[in-house]
Amino acid sequence: MNVLVIGRGGREHAICRKVSESPLVEQVFAAPGNAGMSDCATCIEINEHEQDQLVEFAKQNDIGLTIIGPEVPLLEGLANRFRAESLLVFGPNKEAAEIEGSKSFAKSLMKKYQIPTAEYEVFTEFDQAKDYVLEKGAPIVIKADGLAAGKGVVVANTIEEAVSTLEEFLLQNKFGSSSAKVVVEEFLEGEEFSFMAFVNGTNLVPLEIAQDHKRAFDGDQGPNTGGMGAYSPVPFISQDTIHQAYETILKPVTEALVLENRSFTGILYAGLIHTASGPKVIEFNARFGDPETQVVLPRMESDLVEVILQLLNGETPIIEWDDEAVLGVVIAANGYPESYQKGFVLPACESIDQNVLLFHAGTVKNDKGELLANGGRLLLAAARGKTLADAQSNVYKELEKLNWENCFYRKDIGNRAINHSVV
Ligand code: ATP
Repeated sequence: MNVLVIGRGGREHAICRKVSESPLVEQVFAAPGNAGMSDCATCIEINEHEQDQLVEFAKQNDIGLTIIGPEVPLLEGLANRFRAESLLVFGPNKEAAEIEGSKSFAKSLMKKYQIPTAEYEVFTEFDQAKDYVLEKGAPIVIKADGLAAGKGVVVANTIEEAVSTLEEFLLQNKFGSSSAKVVVEEFLEGEEFSFMAFVNGTNLVPLEIAQDHKRAFDGDQGPNTGGMGAYSPVPFISQDTIHQAYETILKPVTEALVLENRSFTGILYAGLIHTASGPKVIEFNARFGDPETQVVLPRMESDLVEVILQLLNGETPIIEWDDEAVLGVVIAANGYPESYQKGFVLPACESIDQNVLLFHAGTVKNDKGELLANGGRLLLAAARGKTLADAQSNVYKELEKLNWENCFYRKDIGNRAINHSVV
């Protein structure tokens, strides 16, 4: 079978690599893919939004399965389009992807079906939102309703910060229509973890959990980013907590989506926080997490394509997982997540130990075959280890060998887990 993966980031590189290991697969194509994917896929020059061309390509190239990586094409209805053309696709229809596309929709769904999450209100009027903030006090969290590339959430530590964020979102239209509506919610305290599941209607099979590091700098300082590193497993989140999250969050939300005529097929990602009163939802995503996927899929022993085909066929696959830990560190261009340079040459990664998994994101190759920076997040280097501490030392000792001029990476990915006890 030929498989098409839609997207261009590190997440899609990890998906392509895993798909390419399947004995069921002849050829893997990535649209548009990136410079590093040639090890496991053929990149085609069609971007994620060109639905007609993607459908045409799938038909011409005998694509038996398409996996959609990013949220934007899902919300544009790419999965709907493939299904309408009777092409097998793994990813939710846009109606189900609304769980990521509209935070107010996700919150109202959780309220209706009593799924644990932070208390909240939704506003379109600045004055009303401000009154609510004054009544509740700080810290408080302000979220743009729609997609904002990871920048639409502000944890305000003071009333002043909350009010100025509301001004930016509601009065100055910082994110256009995405911030014309805001969710103002209670600040929750606890350890965060990412819990993904393969979902087809009410049939769901969980993946191993991971923890992301959203802040740009060591010690969880600096602005929020798309994610600066991740690891799996997360030893301080107990099996009881994971079970509770499955029973009180993942299972009821997939049932709720079916009841609301928005049946979900794809990867449902729950960003959770383990509070004193149990796990609660921070956000849902309608696709594989990035960078979590780059550390979770390498731990999956089962064949990803076989698992997806079984799931789409109405079966409940059993997934085997490796006990080893995987820890990944993102290398980003200096300045990310604000403005950064493009076009500088990256070090020759061939000298990195073969056991380190390199996933490309914002990279291109020039005609000399050199790797150039072409985005904010450039690469993710991941290593395996018997323990997280081993995986951590395996990845950092390789990264230290190279000169990462014009780039930066966090030096503390995994420290929290290594120094933590079970909660
Ligand atoms: P992504 O880029 O992953 O889609 P996002 O922009 O949708 O992220 P969220 O994941 O909702 O944003 O929030 C970003 C971060 O803000 C969270 O990882 C968490 O650290 C913090 N956060 C969000 N909501 C809350 C809350 N209610 N209480 C405490 N912290 C929160």
